[in-house]
Amino acid sequence: MVKSIYIKLVAIILVLIVALLLVVGAFLMSGVRNFYVSAFYDQMREVFASADVAADLRAAAEGEGGAALLADILRANMGRLGVDATTRSFFVLDGETGQCLAGSNMAEGEHLTVTRNILTALAGGDGYASDPDEDFMDMALPLRGAGGSYILYVIDNKETVTRLNAELMGIVVRAIAVGLLISSLLGMLLAKTVVTPIQHLTRAAEKVAAGDFSEKVENETADEIGVLARTFNDMADQLETNIESLKNAERTRREFVANVSHELRTPVTSIRSYAETLGDAAGTLDGETERRFLEVIVSESDRLSKIVQDLLLLSRFDAGNLRFDYQQFSFEKSVRSVFDAQLLEAQRRGHDFRLEVRDDLPDIRGDRSRIEQVLINMVSNALKYTPDGGCIRMTAGAAGDRVFCTVTDNGVGIPQEDQSRVFERFYRVDKARSRESGGTGLGLSIAYEIVERHDGRLELQSQPGKGTAITVWLPVGGPQHG
Ligand code: ADP
Repeated sequence: MVKSIYIKLVAIILVLIVALLLVVGAFLMSGVRNFYVSAFYDQMREVFASADVAADLRAAAEGEGGAALLADILRANMGRLGVDATTRSFFVLDGETGQCLAGSNMAEGEHLTVTRNILTALAGGDGYASDPDEDFMDMALPLRGAGGSYILYVIDNKETVTRLNAELMGIVVRAIAVGLLISSLLGMLLAKTVVTPIQHLTRAAEKVAAGDFSEKVENETADEIGVLARTFNDMADQLETNIESLKNAERTRREFVANVSHELRTPVTSIRSYAETLGDAAGTLDGETERRFLEVIVSESDRLSKIVQDLLLLSRFDAGNLRFDYQQFSFEKSVRSVFDAQLLEAQRRGHDFRLEVRDDLPDIRGDRSRIEQVLINMVSNALKYTPDGGCIRMTAGAAGDRVFCTVTDNGVGIPQEDQSRVFERFYRVDKARSRESGGTGLGLSIAYEIVERHDGRLELQSQPGKGTAITVWLPVGGPQHG
């Protein structure tokens, strides 16, 4: 393809140059011919109309031997008539028969053709007509005197102009040869400025088609090809980003499916094995062991249904068909009721659990039960990940047009590298501990979705071994969209 563009460019330039030169040459040659012809007739008219020549000619025609006299007069004016040995001759013809009587070149005179101008002169008129198709030009003037009637005839074989035009033709041919050189040079230049960038683009496009986005097209020019190159680079970047995010989404989806399968299999396996043991050993187990086994089955079933519930909730978030019930409610009341609900459990674990409400909290707009779900998750995490006898604080306040609630604990904390990932689905720093304490690894991801829907923010600060502070920020006016 590239080769053909190069050849096409050179061919177009060549055709242009040749056409231009041919047109110029043709105009030039016809201009030279016309100029030469009209100069001939002007010259003839001027000489024969001039008073001295006309008078001499008329006088010569009056006497005897007029033809020789007339020829002498014309010979005397050869310079003015432009008569020379090779291209132009003059003759004196018989006015009645057109026969050549005298002239500058009698050998030629013997074989004179009777031209249109001679016929005109024989009929008594001035023959100054020119025919561009003929390879000669001539003029014939009738002259009648007492000594007889004559025709003064001058003929030019156009050899001068033919030679001149042949010379011009040679120049045009040489110019065409130079044009060939110029067009191949121009072709090379164009190839460098047009074809080479297109070649680069093609190579990059082929790579993109093969899935390799690394090649960028270098072209800083401001012309159309530069714009095309930059647009191509932008497009390749865009494609790369899209493909990258598709790959990420696909990876996340696979991980999620793997996680779900794993999370569901664990309780199912343990329910099955306890149930099988109970069945196989029916009647042989003591009441206490049977009761313990049944408790495990019940708690694993609870876990299973909690995971399924959380997953259903998340899938409804993802599908976007979970309607939030936005209403005006007291944020303070919600904070207090979550505190009250968690107090017993906190005390059971020996935690020092306190609530501090700093400011006069305004009512806020939001989905009350979902906000409380977030707060419960924050507090229950603090309870779960703090060894018994810890210190847990709930602090609520207002700042500007937002309210906040921070839950601080002095528990195990979260390593720096895990802090940004705890909001991911099923992400747990310590899987065993989370599972032991009944966690599904979905609580914070659900909280994150809920807070996002309220145009709020979740902030996490944590130091391993020292404790964690997690804060939820919510706009008083509720989310912009709903
Ligand atoms: P889980 O059901 O496992 O608690 P979450 O989504 O609520 O799931 O939390 C994700 C992970 O974040 C937890 O498994 C835990 O490792 C970590 N985490 C959350 N809150 C705390 C906290 N207060 N202290 C220490 N680790 C925490």
